[in-house]
Amino acid sequence: MKFFRPASLPEALNIKSEFPDCVPIAGGTDLMVMINFDRRRPPALLDLSGVPELRTIVERPDGVLRIGAGVSCKRLHGDYADALPSLAMAAGTVGSPQIRNRATVGGNIATSSPAGDTLPPLIAAGAVVELASVGGSRRLPLEEFLIGPKRNALRPDELIEAVHVRRQAGPQLFSKVGTRNAMVISISSLALDLRPAQRAIRCAIGSAAPKVLLVEGMEALGAALPWPTDGGPPGALDDALVEAFSGLVSRACSPIDDMRGSARYRRRSLEALARRNLTWAWRALERRSTCV
Ligand SMILES: Cc1cc2nc3c(=O)[nH]c(=O)nc-3n(C[C@H](O)[C@H](O)[C@H](O)COP(=O)(O)OP(=O)(O)OC[C@H]3O[C@@H](n4cnc5c(N)ncnc54)[C@H](O)[C@@H]3O)c2cc1C
Repeated sequence: MKFFRPASLPEALNIKSEFPDCVPIAGGTDLMVMINFDRRRPPALLDLSGVPELRTIVERPDGVLRIGAGVSCKRLHGDYADALPSLAMAAGTVGSPQIRNRATVGGNIATSSPAGDTLPPLIAAGAVVELASVGGSRRLPLEEFLIGPKRNALRPDELIEAVHVRRQAGPQLFSKVGTRNAMVISISSLALDLRPAQRAIRCAIGSAAPKVLLVEGMEALGAALPWPTDGGPPGALDDALVEAFSGLVSRACSPIDDMRGSARYRRRSLEALARRNLTWAWRALERRSTCV
């Protein structure tokens, strides 16, 4: 097996252009499992761990963070709880400390699993993926980049260079249902992103459909929520609005039965996560208004 270890992004892109069959490896926590179980036998590996450009995080003046594909889950969990709370929470649930040390956000995105934990918070926050090749770069909303279970829109000569995501504009939450608290693939997951200034609510769900989904049709609910006005507190959250949100999530999902959980359990757990997360996020909004 050929093994390339570029020291810069241009070098990595040149190799990918010349050998489109070579398979990138970042932390190796997904790919090495496939290789060890003989489910993949790549003709060549492109080790991205020596590419410094992929490990940077830069925040633009408008509050959008550009997170390099090679940034680890450990770093997102440890350093970005204020800027990106939902993503930080999700990154903190990936595997164990050892796995989070190696696992990268780019690897999680490229694996494109319906259970990938960083995907719901990124999609709920409106993340855009930056894809690079020797020909230039292009950007796609993450929900369009994902096209099916472990399938995405990456071309053979491209690498994921970064993901762009805006600093939180209001309370964000991520919750995951599994059989235990650590080292567990989700049975279902849900990320919520409240944007009081826009009177908008965004939600993405994982392990709920062939790919991680942005829940559509939230505009009317966003308009109906009693958002804070003129710096005052928000109104009380009506049970009917919580049920309406839970209903939207339930209708959006199309879960399957598998060894981790039944379709029925997945749907019920997502409905419960929706109720719980909206209630908790609203409490956080109330606390914010009493703190200013
Ligand atoms: C014990 C264990 C527990 C785990 N628990 C979880 C969990 O709780 N939640 C979860 O979501 N995942 C979990 N995972 C899966 C894995 O850790 C994550 O998906 C991780 O983010 C993968 O990142 P990586 O850098 O290790 O990817 P790698 O294994 O290096 O690569 C994964 C895929 O991405 C491609 N790739 C990597 N970087 C790029 C790039 N820049 N451009 C294009 N393609 C790229 C590779 O070619 C490969 O196809 C677990 C894995 C293990 C072994």
